[in-house]
Amino acid sequence: MKQYQLVVRSDAFSQQIAKMYHQELTAQGWQSSEQAKLVIAIGGDGTMLEAFHRYYQPDVAFVGLHTGRLGFYADWDRGEAEDLLGHILHSEPKIAEYPLIEITFELKDEKRHFYALNETIIKSKNLSTFVMEVWINEKRFESFRGDGMILSTPSGSTAYNHSVGGAILHPAFEAMQVAELAAINNREFRTLNRPFILPQPHLLDLYPQNPGRDILVGIDGQEYSFSGLVCVRAKVAEAKVRFARYRPFPFWQRVREKFLDN
Ligand code: NAD
Repeated sequence: MKQYQLVVRSDAFSQQIAKMYHQELTAQGWQSSEQAKLVIAIGGDGTMLEAFHRYYQPDVAFVGLHTGRLGFYADWDRGEAEDLLGHILHSEPKIAEYPLIEITFELKDEKRHFYALNETIIKSKNLSTFVMEVWINEKRFESFRGDGMILSTPSGSTAYNHSVGGAILHPAFEAMQVAELAAINNREFRTLNRPFILPQPHLLDLYPQNPGRDILVGIDGQEYSFSGLVCVRAKVAEAKVRFARYRPFPFWQRVREKFLDN
């Protein structure tokens, strides 16, 4: 029996489409299951990020139907709900795989592990300067002073990373982009002062230098506050996320539709 899982934004239009999907898919012998290998996100990019964090496994494929105005992860828009349903019922998708970031937060007494689909943001919880020692491949690279850093995946390079002047990176690159947030650069303090890109399997270690300070962490829009953070270790994950493509939608076409209107 074929299985599916829906993740749906709470607005009335998304809920109405979800109801229609449940009815049609179950009428055709499909079953809604937490173990489904196909997860359908109905809503916006935030809904796809939520779907990823609830159901990510290396063998699960995600597909997005966007019910708002612009969605980067959704291949289908609000007028195409029935088309997508027809494809789910009657055709086999191609699979596109995108890189993820694997990140470990070493706290005083425990380690917390995450995957990020868009990005990880690390910044101080208060307004005074945040200082971090930055190491690459276990060698000291620089001292950072400023607001914080964004570590983004290629598919997340068009999100927060784009707003802080990072490059847009095609997901064929198994890489992680590091962008500074308001770094202090003057005669006394110096950082690279440019976004840089690390390939797999390079390691980035960040050592916060403000003892006792709470650190704010964002993973794909989800906020965490860590006290006693000793080290943040990040790298491109070996596992990737899978998207079900029922029709071609190349990355550069996505970029064009999101950012350019001429
Ligand atoms: P949200 O829905 O308010 O999303 C913010 C915007 O980011 C939306 O326009 C969304 O479509 C867009 N977005 C999300 N992922 C994208 C991607 N991969 N490529 C292009 N655009 C993308 O907030 P949310 O639903 O909680 O989404 C969280 C994301 O919002 C975070 O992962 C972060 O990238 C983004 N964000 C951006 C800024 C900024 O640009 N200054 C600030 C905070 C969060």
